[in-house]
Amino acid sequence: VFTSKQVIGVDIGGTSICVAAVDESGCVYAHEEFLTQAKAGFEPAVVKLAQAVMKVVSAANWSLAEVAAIGVGCTGPVDRITGTIHNPFTLPSWENKNIVTALEQATGKPVRLENDANAALIGEYRAGAGRGVDNVVMLTLGTGVGGGVLVKGCLYRGFDDSHPELGHIPVNPDGPECYCGQTGCLEILASGTALRLEAEAKGFTDGAEVFVEAARANTVAEEILDRMGYAISRAVGILAHTFLPERVILGGGVLNHENDLLISYVQSNLCDMPLARGNSVRIVPAQLGTRAGVVGAACLVLNGD
Ligand SMILES: [Zn+2]
Repeated sequence: VFTSKQVIGVDIGGTSICVAAVDESGCVYAHEEFLTQAKAGFEPAVVKLAQAVMKVVSAANWSLAEVAAIGVGCTGPVDRITGTIHNPFTLPSWENKNIVTALEQATGKPVRLENDANAALIGEYRAGAGRGVDNVVMLTLGTGVGGGVLVKGCLYRGFDDSHPELGHIPVNPDGPECYCGQTGCLEILASGTALRLEAEAKGFTDGAEVFVEAARANTVAEEILDRMGYAISRAVGILAHTFLPERVILGGGVLNHENDLLISYVQSNLCDMPLARGNSVRIVPAQLGTRAGVVGAACLVLNGD
């Protein structure tokens, strides 16, 4: 248990890394963001990370001595006991690297590692869309799809203390092949990458334009979101029947757009599932946006969930 309540949260994604000075209530005092550039290697990224830690400490008017610890949320799979990273798809050249040891040596502070989706869920639970309820499922629809499950206020963990892989719920057995060995996974059908590929194939500039056009009743855009909404609904239905959550949070970069259509689509499908308490479960968008990960990583280091 730390006496200081000032911590650093780090969120490592395939595209960018965010570092923030955060207190125990989840308040962000200063933050820094830079590109991950995973192909450039692990060691240069650790140097940049340590520099960003010093920058946010100074921008928050803190001293490094006042900082209790550093919490890192990293795109998974990660081994939070050994501190190693195992995601060659998103973080090539970081494979088996130990982020905990490297960052402890570079900063002199205790470091803890967590999966980024778990960290985002804790961020939303402490300071965002999950406040006030203890049974929550969150899906993060970004470059890939991740997720976390909160049971009675605690993160659900599996074998070897691992985090759930909610992106690989096979929602359509006839769907396209996924790199995990199954077919029709949620990630293959509803990630930001999947949306962008389908958007480009249908003549849109990117995924964001699909949301804008669907809100204007463009039928091609509506069909894309319908298919995506259907895939998310199937996954949410499975999760709702399995865990009986009070709330399901949908977050990640994909949901940063005009998401009312998608949220209400998933909500209305859930209402047809009485055994999952579909009428009582609320589907809500994440509130902290890109900051959920840093806030959650910081809260995890203080509260040790
Ligand atoms: Zn898969």
